[in-house]
Amino acid sequence: MTSASTHTTRPLTTTYMWLIIMAGTLTCVWAITNLPLSRIDPYFNLLALGTVILGSRVAIRVPRINTNITVDDTFIFLGLLLYGGEAAVLLGMIGGVAAGLRISNKPRTVLFAGAALACALSVTAQGLLWIFGSTTDLLHHGPSAAIIAICLMGLLQYASHTAIVATANALKDNQTIWQMWNQNFLWISITYFAGAAAAGLIAFSIGTAGFYAFLIAIPIIAIVYLSYDRYLREVKSSARQAELAERERAEIERERAEQAERHVKELNNYIVEQERISRTLEETKEHFRHAAFHDALTGLPNRSMFSELLTAEIKSSRINSNHLFAALFIDLDRFKNINDSLGHSYGDLLLVAFAGRLEKILRPVDTLARFGGDEFAILLSNMSHPQDAIRVAERILEDLTQPFDLKENSSFTSASIGIALSTSGYDRPEDILRDADTAMYRAKENGKGRYELFDKDMHARAVSRLSLERDLRQAIEQKEFCVYYQPIVSLESGKLAGFEALVRWNHPVEGLVSPSEFIPVAEETGLILQIGQWVLEEACRAVNTWQQQSVVHRNLTLSVNLSAKQVSQPDLLEQVSHALEQSGLDARSLKLEITESVVMENAEAATMMFKRLRALGVQLSIDDFGTGYSSLSYLHRFPLNYLKIDRSFVSRITETGENAEIVRTIVTLAHNLGLQVIAEGVETREQQKQLESVGCEYAQGYLFSRPVEHDSVKALLDGELGSNGQLAIGEEALHDDSVVSVYPM
Ligand code: C2E
Ligand code: CA
Ligand code: CA
Repeated sequence: MTSASTHTTRPLTTTYMWLIIMAGTLTCVWAITNLPLSRIDPYFNLLALGTVILGSRVAIRVPRINTNITVDDTFIFLGLLLYGGEAAVLLGMIGGVAAGLRISNKPRTVLFAGAALACALSVTAQGLLWIFGSTTDLLHHGPSAAIIAICLMGLLQYASHTAIVATANALKDNQTIWQMWNQNFLWISITYFAGAAAAGLIAFSIGTAGFYAFLIAIPIIAIVYLSYDRYLREVKSSARQAELAERERAEIERERAEQAERHVKELNNYIVEQERISRTLEETKEHFRHAAFHDALTGLPNRSMFSELLTAEIKSSRINSNHLFAALFIDLDRFKNINDSLGHSYGDLLLVAFAGRLEKILRPVDTLARFGGDEFAILLSNMSHPQDAIRVAERILEDLTQPFDLKENSSFTSASIGIALSTSGYDRPEDILRDADTAMYRAKENGKGRYELFDKDMHARAVSRLSLERDLRQAIEQKEFCVYYQPIVSLESGKLAGFEALVRWNHPVEGLVSPSEFIPVAEETGLILQIGQWVLEEACRAVNTWQQQSVVHRNLTLSVNLSAKQVSQPDLLEQVSHALEQSGLDARSLKLEITESVVMENAEAATMMFKRLRALGVQLSIDDFGTGYSSLSYLHRFPLNYLKIDRSFVSRITETGENAEIVRTIVTLAHNLGLQVIAEGVETREQQKQLESVGCEYAQGYLFSRPVEHDSVKALLDGELGSNGQLAIGEEALHDDSVVSVYPM
């Protein structure tokens, strides 16, 4: 019949199985004690043998539910019909154990298989006994009753046996008994009915035809078995297919699960990667952000960041009117010199060192920024008093009196500082920066190495300067410039030696504008290059014409001023020679005047350029001598011809001859260097006499003539020399005030 085996057995299943084993054993004990031994004959032994052989050999395992189907039912039912319930119980135990051994060697499984069959048979036997009064007389009540009895026998055995086995399986699989029975045991009912029918048929034959019928029964059993077998094989194969399908399904599900797991993993990795990328992006952004707001050389905040901070300060001061802050604009003086003489890498080192010094001076709430080049800015936040800003500026200037010792070079630098205070009331960061910048320029103009505080006047001046710049550009286009000529007299002969060309701006509204007002702006904006070149060409032409007019004037000289910008222009030489060629003026007639400070600040470049100019035949003057800080020992290095004593020394010479000493010293020095001397700003006879007495060669000043326009020179030249050799216009020039000042610079 059937048996169940378990792989992993739950405690409840085990208990149940042992209970059945116990019940089966008791049933067998009961069967043995009640077995009517008188009825045991050789046929019974044959039956028992057949049961064991068939039960142990010809079992078909249904894989899906791990249950055996055996064909020993026929013999056991036969035992029931021929020898009674006790005999059937014993056969059942024997057959069950034999079948159990086929699928397992576990005693519990083997014994359970036997006990289940024994128990089921005792139930069937009792049922039949109860209905029909006997189990061995079932076939003797007529054909229809016999058929009912056989069917009932199959049904009882099927119900009781499958109930016992299904319970074990249900406990094992944690299913309800009904579920288990319905799914796995319904379809095997046929084996029970077939077994019961076969047994009934054989028993009937034996009853009518004797033992020979038993022999005849064997082929019947064989046929039943074979069709069984066929049927079961089909069941088996469909079960296997179902199992394969099940496995396949499980496999697919497993793969799906794995795939899902992989996807989750990939997704996780993706998310992690995304986070990593976004972090890197964040870092990259941060890097750019930092670069956008910081200076690469010093790592300090740059102008953009400084403006942001200023905006915040402006907001704070709007909320709290007591909030006081200041912007300081710092520019190193003559930093270009350091770069040129010691190299850019040294310049960079100096900037970094300077930044370091500034940071030491500042409080943690203050901000130091670098705007580029040698321009720095400081934001002083939360000041308690406006004086604080001045104190910081003073500390910076004080600190700069110490040298920078870098790369085995010791160098000094000074700085010009402009201060703008929040008390002026600002709405925009660019305004406060502009004012600090204006104040800084003011500090430069006032002599560098100092600070200036921005005030309202300064603002007015800055505005006026802006309009001056605009007007200057227009002036170049409109050709509003003209050249005035101031005579230079030989003190030895008292005769006219030449002229200094002085530019004038004939402003359409303001009239004549003094060069001391617009030259600095023209210089800053670079407009001086066009103006200067025009003056040079114009003056060369004029003087050449005058020279050609009379032999007396053949040796007239022309002095032309060169600005710093012009001197640093690489094509200056070409421009000068071009002016000479175009005008036809002899190079020896031309004297170029370069102020002392320009010569000294660009010593190297100036020397080179001077040599080339000298090679052209042009003469050179050092202008405004005594105003700069020229080192006298330097002077001999420059290929100069003349030295012009600044007006300030000349004007100090009093009527009694006081202060002539310093002029004497300069003249002596110049002569020792092989230079001739021209005195500027000579306004009195006394000054003229003193200059003559110390050996000064030339003089220029209102005493002789103011600068006059081109056409006046002609008149001057025509009637120039009176009988005493003096210039005709003389002291009247002192009262000429044709040059007006319009710009409050
Ligand atoms: P500078 O080269 O020292 O020119 C002499 C200045 O002194 C002239 O002023 C002249 O008018 C003035 N001056 C002459 N004699 C006397 C005097 O007896 N008393 C007084 N108080 N002043 C006297 P100006 O013409 O206003 O020129 C000022 C400066 O402008 C010049 O100083 C020169 O540095 C610059 N400048 C003039 N023209 C040019 C030019 O064409 N190119 C360049 N680069 N600079 C020029
Ligand atoms: Ca001059
Ligand atoms: Ca001068």
